Formats: sequence, structure tokens, C-alpha cells
Amino acid sequence: MSVEIDENAPELKVLIVDDQAENVRILASILKDLARVSFSLSGKDAIEKARSQKPDLILLDVLMPDMNGYDVIDSLKADEETSQIPVIFVTGLKETVEEEEGLRRGAIDYITKPYHPSIVKARVTNQLTLRKYSLQLEKVNRELELLATTDPLTGCYNRRYFREKGQEEVERVNRYKSPCSIVMFDLDKFKQVNDDHGHDVGDQVLLHFVQIVNDNIRHQDTFGRLGGEEFSLLMPETSVTNAVILGERILEDIRKTQVEFESGVLKFTCSIGAASITKETESLEAALKIADDRLYQAKNTGRDRLIHD
Ligand code: GH3
Ligand code: MG
Ligand code: MG
Repeated sequence: MSVEIDENAPELKVLIVDDQAENVRILASILKDLARVSFSLSGKDAIEKARSQKPDLILLDVLMPDMNGYDVIDSLKADEETSQIPVIFVTGLKETVEEEEGLRRGAIDYITKPYHPSIVKARVTNQLTLRKYSLQLEKVNRELELLATTDPLTGCYNRRYFREKGQEEVERVNRYKSPCSIVMFDLDKFKQVNDDHGHDVGDQVLLHFVQIVNDNIRHQDTFGRLGGEEFSLLMPETSVTNAVILGERILEDIRKTQVEFESGVLKFTCSIGAASITKETESLEAALKIADDRLYQAKNTGRDRLIHD
């Protein structure tokens, strides 16, 4: 896969740190076409701005009163929030040992005064290009992660991710004895929906169902599509009593829902089996089996209902 720089990406930010306003002015005018520029006239202010503004690059003067550039970079590198921000040292010091000191403390490059605008531009451009690539890569990785863990039609977690998460939850309950509930859903007579109205309308029903569940659950719950029209919900820190209340509310919302399609509207229902995961639960499979048996009972006793024991 090739990674291309997105031309529409937001402009990158450069923070210039120098106690001499004149130096800031010169650097800012050299860089104004390359990035959005802000500045600090002291090390202390630079550290605050690095945290609050999250610049993509910092140009840092070495010789400053109070806190010099070495102290500033040490402080930036020690803080998780700012440790990844690249720093270019800017200084009048000509000694190689000073340059080495800066690089040793984690600076990525070094610019000496007096400034040669073309050199400053070239060094800053190099770092900003690298930064753009790494932002782009992070974005691609997030997209890949999403593709690997979710179901493309409904956006729910896929079976593989749900099982991983579920097994972790079972282990957590075994260790900490906190309650957890698991709920299995299966849409009723769904084959008939497809047969009567076509597969696309069937897909619309699935999307309505997923929307209703998503509207009712919490951030910490995990909702997965186990296959076809079978879904499961994992609810940490939730007693089965509360899981039942939630399941009944979902059933009620489904009953009130009309799915509109080209030649009419349709209503649908769903059956639910609920179980609790306790410290006796041996595996996710065991918990799913109990919830699934209850779901089967719900099907056999008329559908559109929830069974929990
Ligand atoms: P029951 O009430 O007993 O659960 O009956 P059912 O018809 O829902 O169950 P069955 O397992 O016989 O049929 C499930 C149907 O779900 C068959 C399959 O074509 C359909 N299905 C599975 N995945 C999808 C999908 O992604 N989109 C659509 N439209 N249909 C799907
Ligand atoms: Mg079904
Ligand atoms: Mg089924």
C-alpha cells in the first residue's frame, strides 16, 4: 500500500522559542508560508504551549535566561504528551560539542545563527514532510484497525473481535468478581423478510436494528455481529436484572419501529436470550451457550421476547 500525503490535511504548526523577539520575528517571516507559526519568549511558556497547542515541530533556542534550551527539551521529552514532538535546536553556538549535546538530548536537527533563510526553510520542510507522512500513516493504521475489527454492513464489531473482547471479559470477571451480562439477539423470521421484500430491504432492517441497540447501550458495552442476523452484546459491570431491563427496552423500541422502503413499510421483531457471566463461568463459549439456549426458548415460545432464566 502506498501512502500519499493528503493535500487537504490541516496546516502543520511550528512553535518558535527564543528569548529575543527579533529572532522570533526573523524566523517567523522565513517560515510563514510553510506552517502556522506561534512563538514563546521563554522556556516555561514554551513547555506550556507545547502541551496546549501540540505543535508539529519546535524550533528551540539554546541560550535563554532562566531555563535554557537543554532544560526545555529534557522537560518536553520527559512528558508523554510532548515527548514525540520533533525539536530543532537553533543557536549561535558554533561548537560541535554543543551540537552533539542537543542531538544527544533528542533534538532531530540543528540550525545555526545567523540564519540562512533557504537552509532554515529546507530543514523545516524536511521535518514537516516527515511529520505529514507519519500523520498519514497513523490515519491509515486506524482505518486498517477498523476494517479488521468491524463488520462492513453494520459497523458492529465482527465475530473475531467480539470473541477476543468476550474472553478478556470472562477472565476479568473471574479475577475481580464484578458482574457482567451477555445478551444474544436473533431477528425473527428474517428469511421471510428477504423472501418477501428482497435482500436490500433485509439489509435496511439490519441497519435499523443496529441503530436501536446502539442508541440504548453504553460506551463500555461491546456489540458484535456474530453472523447473519445474530448479534451479541457484552455488558461489563451489569447485573442480569439490568441487562433484562435494557433488553426489554430494545424490544419495545423495535416494536415501535417502521422500516420504510420503496413500496411500503414493514415492522420486524427480535428474540433475545440473556445470561450473566460469573466467576463460575469457564469460558465465553459457555456463557454464549447459555444465552443461546435461552434465545432458542424465546423462539419456541412465540418470538418477540426475552428469556433470562
Ligand atoms: P427465526 O425466527 O427462527 O430466527 O427465523 P429466521 O428466518 O430469522 O432464521 P434463518 O436462520 O432461517 O434465516 C436467517 C436469514 O438471514 C437467512 C439469510 O439469508 C439472512 N441473512 C443473513 N445475513 C444477511 C444479510 O447480511 N443481509 C440480509 N438481507 N439477509 C441476511
Ligand atoms: Mg432469525
Ligand atoms: Mg439465525
